[in-house]
Amino acid sequence: MSGDDVPVLIVGGSLVGLSTAVFLGRLGVPSLVLERHRGTAIHPRAALVNQRAIETYRVAGLQEEIEEAAAREFVQNGAIVSVESLGGKELDWYFHFINEGVEHISPVPRIFVTQIGLEPVLLHAAESLGARVEYASEAASVEQDESGVTVVVRSRDGSEERTVRARYLVAADGAHSPIREGLGIPNLGHGSFSDSITIYFRADVRRLMGDRNLSVVYVFGPHLQGFFRFSLDLQAGFLVVNSTSDDAGARSVRIGEDMSAPTCIAYVREALGDPDIAVEIENVQRWSASAEYAERLREGRIFLAGDSAHVMPPTGGFGGNCGIQDGYDLAWKLAYVLDGRAGEELLATYDAERSPVGAFTTEQAYTRYVLRLDPSLGKDDLVPIVDEAAVELGYRYRSSAIAEPEDDDTWENPREPSGRPGFRAPHVVVDGGSSTLDLFGDDFVVLAGPDGAAWCDAARAAGAANGLDVGVHRVGVDLRDPSADLERLYGVGAEGASLVRPDGFVAWRSPGAGADPAGELAAALACAVCR
Ligand SMILES: Cc1cc2nc3c(=O)[nH]c(=O)nc-3n(C[C@H](O)[C@H](O)[C@H](O)COP(=O)(O)OP(=O)(O)OC[C@H]3O[C@@H](n4cnc5c(N)ncnc54)[C@H](O)[C@@H]3O)c2cc1C
Repeated sequence: MSGDDVPVLIVGGSLVGLSTAVFLGRLGVPSLVLERHRGTAIHPRAALVNQRAIETYRVAGLQEEIEEAAAREFVQNGAIVSVESLGGKELDWYFHFINEGVEHISPVPRIFVTQIGLEPVLLHAAESLGARVEYASEAASVEQDESGVTVVVRSRDGSEERTVRARYLVAADGAHSPIREGLGIPNLGHGSFSDSITIYFRADVRRLMGDRNLSVVYVFGPHLQGFFRFSLDLQAGFLVVNSTSDDAGARSVRIGEDMSAPTCIAYVREALGDPDIAVEIENVQRWSASAEYAERLREGRIFLAGDSAHVMPPTGGFGGNCGIQDGYDLAWKLAYVLDGRAGEELLATYDAERSPVGAFTTEQAYTRYVLRLDPSLGKDDLVPIVDEAAVELGYRYRSSAIAEPEDDDTWENPREPSGRPGFRAPHVVVDGGSSTLDLFGDDFVVLAGPDGAAWCDAARAAGAANGLDVGVHRVGVDLRDPSADLERLYGVGAEGASLVRPDGFVAWRSPGAGADPAGELAAALACAVCR
């Protein structure tokens, strides 16, 4: 046995584990990532990476590299449609292009890139930022005490077990999270409700696609329901089959029991709408869609993130994106607590903030699944559909680190952002082309209206008193706001100010001048770091 110590140990080195390692690394926190598999993703799975996720990757300097990886896989900005078959009747266009109507709410687009394309970018970035990623390595046991977590690490190559000691552990170990189960944290929600298969195939679909640029194709055929994604060269793709029915209309509930090549070829041909097209099956996987979220995301020094915290059907493309945001919320809190800039209580706000978002997002994916793919599941327990952009960018955090909310709203339309505490700080084009979002990422930031000089002085003083670097910007002084949107969208007025956290969420704001700016801002900052 040999031992080693790390500030943060991440169990699971897939999309969420690697993203969390990147976010920690850029804040100066090294981590050890343990991943049972031998490398990054070999199945495409997530492809729609939403604007909020790209915003967080942009902070890490990865936007360009991810766009390059995406361009190698897909023509970007395609449509999401439903059809009877690819070559047959079109039924509905959910999006004519995936960035339809959201271009102005963020400096970044929604991007289509699979986990096969994205994870190597994250791996390289995580390692360059000081993370150690160990493949073929699994956490065999996890125990925590008052000062840390002890993990027994077992290598798949048969070498000796060793122990690792970490101050904190992030369980990004997937939907069946052994760590969550070991902690006895129950799942809430709708459980598992489908028997689905994903068929990876090769077929030349260029003629059937024609000149359309379709990112996701939902299929409602006479005998099957599911969805397609295709490769850039239109010579390959995958078909998810969610349900099938016979000629009499009876639903098959056990699709996965026959995953033979002839059956899968028949599914692909039917969904393509060409009974004779040459199809080669590369791989078939059986899985079950579920919509569940953990009752709580923290137990002592262990935090659940990603699919271990919430698992949802792919309708909406929310699952991986939601997990990336778990990592983003957690990373700055761990960084601030580890070096003493914040009180330990800040870590309790992870569950308070992310748990409701996980539940909200899961319910949105479930409603879409039932309405789009399987109405037989029943509509009694569905939440009303909220626009995709609001699910992605419009949720609100509530916790002891955020000023008392002015109202009960739990989400807003990010096309009309309010700048209220708990919401993502809005994107405004400033200083000739860049975004307000580019000001956030490392430190707290105060944005003041043109007559808000008193808040700027107060911010500097409060930062110095708390040992915190605080970025200070005043419209018209060091921040040009050519659209004159900032005061309106941040809700601060000429004499007001907004305090934005390192993760780009508004912690506090004053719509106008304050009676005691120094005292008010000092209190807001102390609250935001739980001191
Ligand atoms: C067909 C399909 C399409 C999808 N499309 C989208 C989409 O468009 N957009 C989107 O956001 N999401 C999408 N999703 C969901 C997305 O793929 C998942 O939410 C995401 O992969 C979850 O990542 P994760 O890192 O939390 O978990 P996982 O990817 O499940 O990773 C967990 C990892 O932990 C490892 N592990 C577990 N236990 C241990 C241990 N003890 N020691 C070491 N390692 C361990 C596992 O080997 C695994 O690699 C889709 C899913 C499917 C199935």
